[in-house]
Amino acid sequence: MDYRIPHVDRRGFMRAVLGGVAVRAAGQSAPVAVRPLGGGLFLLTGAGANVVVGTGEGGVAMVDGGTAERSRALLAAAAALPGGGPVHTLFNTHWHPDQTGANRAVGPSGARIVAHENTRLWLTTDVARPWEDRTFPALPEDALPNDTFYETYRTRVGGQRVECGYMLQAHTDGDIYVFFPEENVLVAGGVVSSDDWPLVDWWTGGWINGMVDGIRTLLDLCDDDTRIVPASGPLMARADLEAQLAMYGEISQRLRAIMYSGLSPADAVAERLTETYAARLGGDADFFIRRAFESMWGHFTPDA
Ligand SMILES: [Zn+2]
Repeated sequence: MDYRIPHVDRRGFMRAVLGGVAVRAAGQSAPVAVRPLGGGLFLLTGAGANVVVGTGEGGVAMVDGGTAERSRALLAAAAALPGGGPVHTLFNTHWHPDQTGANRAVGPSGARIVAHENTRLWLTTDVARPWEDRTFPALPEDALPNDTFYETYRTRVGGQRVECGYMLQAHTDGDIYVFFPEENVLVAGGVVSSDDWPLVDWWTGGWINGMVDGIRTLLDLCDDDTRIVPASGPLMARADLEAQLAMYGEISQRLRAIMYSGLSPADAVAERLTETYAARLGGDADFFIRRAFESMWGHFTPDA
């Protein structure tokens, strides 16, 4: 059962939402799926990253914006939600294109774009990382975050409290979480993914031990009922986050020992540190290990 925006009627859409049915935007083949989280919050998937939308107040607040290629479909799906509408507030949990792809679409209309100040700075410059043959261009002025902070940020969305906080040098150097305490929904940003090995983006200030600390910060906010929204993959619970803390903690300690014994990233990959956990996460474990190992170079200094 598909609904094609904008021809969908509201009652039909509600049935689609409550049934967890995917919504297709006109002209786009891949669906954006909608899942209600309660309290006017919705999880939207299929836009390149997990997106949480808070409805009310004549529009929506959106936590992360998916990729630029998917932003049209995503914004159409957000507008068609019960209580939906145009985006008045967009949170960028970090600068990566999977999270900031809607900035160009919503910024020029005057939306508030909330981010850590370091995220804004990365988005003002072209970024070319040494492990890939690709450049991420700077965003135009009217697509940049225009409401930035360093440590914490509080606001209200659709009558709900929203609390944001910084995770120092984790996945990047601008990671924030966005917490909705009344619905007990925690959007974790790039520090956590539940279906893939994460990128430790040390080129823009992340590192593996910072990711471990970031997970600790998230755990401090959680109880057993908290629904945790990772950057990608299915919703997580506190126990899943504890398992990730143990896993990344162990991997980072072993990587540090490998580095202190004078070995290279290739040697670290050969140690197969992720083997025990291979069934847990898909994706490219070797890529993760290389970046995690390299991320330590700026923080630990082995004896010469
Ligand atoms: Zn990311």
